[in-house]
This record gives sequence, C-alpha cells and structure tokens, in this order.
Amino acid sequence: MTVHQIPNTIKTDSFWMPFTANRQFKKAPRLFSSAKGMYYTSVDGRQVIDGSAGLWCVNAGHGRPQIAAAVERQLSTLDFAPSFNMGHPLAFDFAERLAEIAPKGLDRIFFTNSGSESVDTALKIALAYHRAAGQPTRTRLIGRERGYHGVGFGGMSVGGMVANRRQFATHLPGVDHIRHTHDLARNAFAKDQPDHGAELADDVERMVALHGADTIAAVIVEPVPGSTAVLPAPKGYLQRLRELCTKHGILLIFDEVITGFGRLGTPFAANFYGVTPDMMTTAKGITNGTVPCGAVFASRQVHDGLMVGPDNAMELFHGYTYSAHPVACAAGLATLDIYKDEGLLTRGASIADYWRDGLHSLKGLPNVVDIRNQGLMGAVELAPRDGAVGARGYDVMVDCFNRGLYFRMSGDSLALSPPLIVEKSHIDDIVSILGDSIKRVA
Ligand code: PLP
Repeated sequence: MTVHQIPNTIKTDSFWMPFTANRQFKKAPRLFSSAKGMYYTSVDGRQVIDGSAGLWCVNAGHGRPQIAAAVERQLSTLDFAPSFNMGHPLAFDFAERLAEIAPKGLDRIFFTNSGSESVDTALKIALAYHRAAGQPTRTRLIGRERGYHGVGFGGMSVGGMVANRRQFATHLPGVDHIRHTHDLARNAFAKDQPDHGAELADDVERMVALHGADTIAAVIVEPVPGSTAVLPAPKGYLQRLRELCTKHGILLIFDEVITGFGRLGTPFAANFYGVTPDMMTTAKGITNGTVPCGAVFASRQVHDGLMVGPDNAMELFHGYTYSAHPVACAAGLATLDIYKDEGLLTRGASIADYWRDGLHSLKGLPNVVDIRNQGLMGAVELAPRDGAVGARGYDVMVDCFNRGLYFRMSGDSLALSPPLIVEKSHIDDIVSILGDSIKRVA
C-alpha cells in the first residue's frame, strides 16, 4: 500500500487527536492542506474527493468566499459580544432566518457551539419544560441503541454506542434505550427507506409500561443515525414514534446534527419524513462547518411553556459564553444565503436517485453485506474479519485516501455523504475508487 509522505517539519507528538487511534495515525499521518469545492488537497499535493462533507458538515462545498468575507468583516467589526443580558443584531437576524426554514412551528432557536452542546441543551430544556408544566417527575430520558448524540454526559448517556460510553464507566441515571432499527436479515440492500421495522417504535410503549409515562421527559433519536453508518428510518417508524410520544405526553427530539441543512434533499429530516418533533438539535451544516455553532429548534409550546414567572426571572438557567457568537452568526447567515441562492437545501432530491444507483452498483463485491442510502447519505457495510472488527473498513478507508477519496468509516461500514454541490461525475469517481478499493483490499 502506498504511504504518502508528509513533510518532516510537521511534528505530531503534541496534538492529542480526537476519536483517533493516535499511535497508529502518527505512524502514517493523513493530512490535508487546503480545500476547494468537492476536493481536499493533501499535504503531498494530491486531490482527494470529499466523500463525507468533512464530518457531514461542509454542505455547500469547501472554500466559499462569501463565508470567508462575512467572517473577516465580522471579526473586524464586532469580534465578540455577550449574549447574557446583552445582544447584537446578527444573533436575532440569524435566529429569524433559521426560523424561516424550520419545520412549521419549530421556530424558537437556542444557540450553542456544537452538536454535543445542542443535545445537552435540548435534554435540559425537556427537563425544565416538564418541571414548569407541573410534572417534575418526568426526568427519564430515552435514547436508542446505535444512537450517537455527541460526547457530553447527556448525549453520551442517551447515545447507544457502547464504545462511546464504556471507557467512562458512568452516565446519567434514569436513562433507558429503545431498540435500534438496523436489521440485516430483513432489510439488507434495501433502497431508500427499508420496509421492515416500524413496529420497533412500539418500544416506547414498553418503556412506558416499565417506567410509567409520568417519569419520562423525552425520547431522542437521529432520524437517520449517521455515526453508526447511515440507518434510514423504516417506513412508518418515525410517524409511530411521534404518535406514541404525543399519546404519553413525552417530548420527541430529533437529533438533526447530520441530517439538518439539506442532507436528505429537504431542509431537515423532519420535512423529509413528514414528522415534526418537539425539538430539533443541529450544528455542522449551520455554518457550512466553518465556525463552530449549533442550534436547538424548539416548538412554541416548549418555548412558551418556559416563559413563565416574573418578567425579571431568567426562564432557562443555561447558555454558553459563545452562544450566538457574532462570528458564528455571520458565517451562518452567509451560509444560509448560499443555501438559498443555490437551492442547496433541496438540491439533494434531484441527485439522490443517481447517488442511490451508484452506491448499489457495488452490490456483489467481496464482503459487501449491505448497502444503504437516503437522500445524499449512504453506507457500504463490509463483513468484519474474524477477530478484527473494523480492520477491513480501515484498510479500505486508507486505500481510498491514498487513491483520492476521503470518507468516514464506522467499524466496517463506510459512510458517505458528500457536499450537496456534488455532481454526477463526482459520484462516478467516488463509486469507482470505492469499488476498486473494495476489490483490492476488502
Ligand atoms: N449528534 C449527532 C447526530 C452527530 O452526528 C454528532 C456528531 O457527529 C453530534 C451530535 C455531536 O456533534 P459535535 O461533534 O459537534 O459535538
């Protein structure tokens, strides 16, 4: 396997890398030095197609001058302003613009700096909401197996990836999980939404029977889990989840950190599936991945439920120094302009079929056990090697990088989700490099 050289002036010891096998990585680092449109350039000067929109965040493609100009302008005009008891106009403009594209009714916006913070914020709002509504016993939070909701203690606890939790030995009390919907036996190679699995939403009834509805504050799910390698919602599943949450007075939270901002060919997965949650957590594409930012979209009911008590009392004892940071707001507004001008929040719909057909053309290659797609998300799942889960996926990922394709891997699943500016020719290249690599090393 080719190992590309990095300049020996780069010292790799001090940076303790996140979510990385540091010792393995530092033996043969993979480094990018610039990016434009659909491509990264590696430090050894090769063009590498971005098959995962960075980390599912660079929805409008790389190197957008409009965002750079807005950030530069903002930095030299108002570099920071507090949002505690003070404000700045861009924060209000940005919230209004987000409310305009939000699923109907989810138009109250709380700013954070990341997906993890958005999740923890939404969970806290859920608890505060029930308390304000006179139901303080509703403290239980329900996640789903194979869910990823970031790395805060809240998100980690409701998350359903064992590896994300095992090392830390503790998590929030009063958390439970419904079952995941990944079902290779019934749904392998399903195109778009799988047929089987709507009944798994009935797990909410199981939770209610076990714990009592009056102890449950919220259910949180990703409409399409991304970090556990793209699991599209089975037909009817999210509708059923919505019905059951409504029936039992439980708030439904969609974690749209990945699915938000056009990834499924609609502004949000809530639009795509026709199901409106009570809150939606977002980040990533909100600023095209340029400046850290996140937002919780809350329904009027949730928001107004907390606007109680004397006018001079803080309604929610929560916030971040950098909530609604002026530079993030400037980047976000420029991003929303691009999404609007180029129709990117719905562009995925026009190319999703081509994407689906390209990915599914890999069916039949060695060790490919499933292929999944939804909107501009997709995954190719490989059978694990005996006693070495993840090794096959890792080898394919490294081989692809060496031959000009970057994507995320999750165990032995290869997760793909390009910037929303992707053209058919890029999809052809992605599929071709991936197919060749699977044949060579899988
Ligand atoms: N929620 C989901 C669905 C995610 O995919 C992620 C990150 O990938 C997060 C939350 C956490 O976001 P962040 O890494 O910005 O904290």
